[in-house]
Amino acid sequence: TPPMSFAALALSPALLNALSAHGLETPTPIQRDAIPPMLAGRDVLACAQTGSGKTVAYALPLLQQWLGSQRSSPRRLQGLVLVPTRELADQVGETLSGLAEGWMSAPKVAVVYGGVSINPQMMALRGGADIVVATPGRLLDLVEHNALHLHTTQTLVLDEADRLLDLGFAEELQRILALLPARRQNLLCSATFPPAVDEMAAHILHKPVRVEVPAEPESRPDITQHAIEVDADRRTMLLKHLIETRHAEDRVLVFAATKYATELVAHKLHRAGLHAAAFHGELSQGTRRATLAAFKASELQVVVATDVAARGIDIARLPVVVNYDLPRSPADHVHRIGRTGRAGESGIAYSFITPEMEGHFRLIEKRQGQRVPREQIEGFEPSPRAQAAAPGDAEVGEHVEAHAGEQKGVHVPGTGGIKGHRKSKKDKLREAAALQAEQTAAQTLRKNPGK
Ligand code: AMP
Repeated sequence: TPPMSFAALALSPALLNALSAHGLETPTPIQRDAIPPMLAGRDVLACAQTGSGKTVAYALPLLQQWLGSQRSSPRRLQGLVLVPTRELADQVGETLSGLAEGWMSAPKVAVVYGGVSINPQMMALRGGADIVVATPGRLLDLVEHNALHLHTTQTLVLDEADRLLDLGFAEELQRILALLPARRQNLLCSATFPPAVDEMAAHILHKPVRVEVPAEPESRPDITQHAIEVDADRRTMLLKHLIETRHAEDRVLVFAATKYATELVAHKLHRAGLHAAAFHGELSQGTRRATLAAFKASELQVVVATDVAARGIDIARLPVVVNYDLPRSPADHVHRIGRTGRAGESGIAYSFITPEMEGHFRLIEKRQGQRVPREQIEGFEPSPRAQAAAPGDAEVGEHVEAHAGEQKGVHVPGTGGIKGHRKSKKDKLREAAALQAEQTAAQTLRKNPGK
């Protein structure tokens, strides 16, 4: 299909001007397919990832709806966007406000989320708001404080619906839905569609138009994946080496499994002379904002983040993503590498494969339907003892034990059958990783028995 222009989408002149002022000329596939039904008032189910242009895809119809509505005082809520994280809330708010920048009469966009004091948000909602971008818990708090009424909502957007459920917002969503008028327009965006999301979509959407970004090469970000075999205790040095030799000029987003790991890796890189910082949910909102701003401004070169904290970080042209630790769930892998190669840019994703995690990475490959050749970097080859052990290599067990951390008593030299033993250890680790992912999902459900 030839590229079409935004002008072909029946958008109002104010929006077309805003788009060209922002240098956005050609709609992305999701925008091309989702905007017309949204403008026509239909419900839309969008299978779209970060980087597909989904935010602009729903921001334009929300703004067009506002442009065509009657002004009232106080302002009546028209558009409600629910998002899983504060960072995404800020980004969506910026997109909406950015497009409406400089209008003689502009909609009031309020962004609210938890983890910060509620009072300024209550003040900001005085006189009402036209569009509210919110995380679910704080939205309910504000409703309870009478700072906001939801019964005038015309359009509901659920962005990153899979993440909303993953993060345990199912019960809050139910409570919010009960406060919305039955007649309204709904848009649901999700990168993945596990059964819980399908169920929610069936429950919320009325005869939705399904929009899926086709897996055409031009719409799929151009991401080169590298799977590098390395011992666990050499990963930080390998990371430093890769950054210095291949990506000295690039910003790099690194994923680690725990808050502690993000701190440790960032600290080590920092000590080694790189501009690096940790980014996780236990940092204050102020620190997180400052870190993101410094990263955007290229004052920081490396950010080491947990999955949850990094959700929705939107930085144009982020060329390099590193899986220092592999994600627990294959779905997270998709989200992670979606941080790079956005909107037509190309990107590189590195995954560090320790001997213990080889099996888990195979699971990820299976799920993404793509095999990634294993590579080794000179000077960082995994120690031969850690690779497929020859019988009689009594140190295998010690090696695994040293790096697997939580693994205890992996191998007692002299008990024999090392090769078989080692294999089953891998199997166990793979199982443990899968189980852990399941348990996280189960915990999320348990936290929300209402749904
Ligand atoms: P999103 O999928 O909403 O996270 O957007 C990903 C990135 O694509 C953002 O940085 C947008 O500014 C950018 N973007 C959105 N729409 C377009 C477009 N039509 N052309 C070029 N870039 C876009």
